[in-house]
Parts: sequence; C-alpha cells; structure tokens
Amino acid sequence: MYDAHFHISDELFKEFQLYSLKGICNISNIEEYHQIQSYLNQYFFHTSIGIHPWKADTISFEDMEPLLKQAQFIGEIGLDNTWCDVDMDVQMGVFEKQLQLAQDYHKPVILHIKGMEKEALEILKKYKNIYISHWYSCMDYIEEYDEVMDYFTIGPSVGVDEAVNEVVKKIDSHKLLIESDGIDAIEWAIGSRNYISTLNHSMEVIQKIKNEKIDFDLNFNNLLKRA
Ligand SMILES: [Zn+2]
Repeated sequence: MYDAHFHISDELFKEFQLYSLKGICNISNIEEYHQIQSYLNQYFFHTSIGIHPWKADTISFEDMEPLLKQAQFIGEIGLDNTWCDVDMDVQMGVFEKQLQLAQDYHKPVILHIKGMEKEALEILKKYKNIYISHWYSCMDYIEEYDEVMDYFTIGPSVGVDEAVNEVVKKIDSHKLLIESDGIDAIEWAIGSRNYISTLNHSMEVIQKIKNEKIDFDLNFNNLLKRA
C-alpha cells in the first residue's frame, strides 16, 4: 500500500513505518527540506518539493531553485483563489517558473488547483510535463483535465464529496492513485484521524464507484517509473 500525497508529520511516519507504506512526501520550504533528512534516514519514501500557492508571496523562487532542481517531483504547486488570498499575479508568476523548471529538468508535477481550474488548464497546456492532479474537487472541466493529466490522486473525501466522486467516475482506473494529504487533512475532510483505515476505505469506495477491481500499486509503480 502507499500514500501518494502527504506532508511531514511524526504521527503519520509512525504508521507509515508500522504498515511498510510507500509514498510521496511534499516539502514546501527549506526548513522542511532539512527536517526531512532525518526521516529519510529512518524511512523509505519519495519526496516532492515545491512552493505552495499559499506561500507564493513569502517564499522566493530563487531561494528554492537549488532544491527544486534536485527534487524527484515538483509540488505541490498551483493556483488557489478559494483557501488563500495571495495575489493571483504573484501566484501565477511562481507557478509558471516552477512549471518551466519541471519541464527543463524533466520532473513530474503535483498540482494544487482550487477555484482556478479553468485558468490553470490554459497555463498547464503550455508546458510538456507529466502532471499529477492532487485531490481535484471541482465538478467542472474534469474531461479537460483528463486530457492534460497523467494521474489523479484521490483525496479522503471520496464517497462524501460529489465532485471527487465525479472525478473517479470519469477518469480511467489506470490513472487513479490514493492519497491522504496528511492526517490533519483526513480530519478536516471526514472528521477522523484514522490514517490506515482511511486509505483502505478510499480504495474500497473507488472500486465500488468504478465497479471493478483496481491494481492501485501498479498505478503508483507506473508513476514512479516516469519520475
Ligand atoms: Zn497537500
């Protein structure tokens, strides 16, 4: 089993080790980058590094650039006009610089898009990147995103969020991956802090919606081969 999108947390890493999970940990600043080194000595997991849209006005691209160049994945990066009020021109500038770097260095990109789905789509089409859409939760543009995205990581609100269910219905099974976005996000989405049972539950719900058995590990391994 794996968790395709999470963040640094002692609580999560304990379970991660207990259940021998694989996964991708998202690092959003230089402090986390240094912090993660001690975890990497203890646990095996993959990492992504990116300037989150919420931090686009406080973290400089130039400061992060050396880390981005050596990252396995770039992310999570994107545009958000719903859960933050960071100036959209600033967000777009930082977003495009990271998309360009991802293209130049051939790194897959993990995307956080909220409220800016239409605008982001036009920007994404300009770059030839492997794209992973993280917890897409918009009823619109799912078909358009399907054309551009290589993978969708499905968040813990699957089954209760109609937009997430719609993504699962419309997207081919080989593109679907499981993510928690961390234990705090599980609590935010479904009111529980039960990490492993939430990942298991997401897999069950997705297979029920698709009415087919899905080899989620195979999907994740296929992504890793391209990273
Ligand atoms: Zn996240």
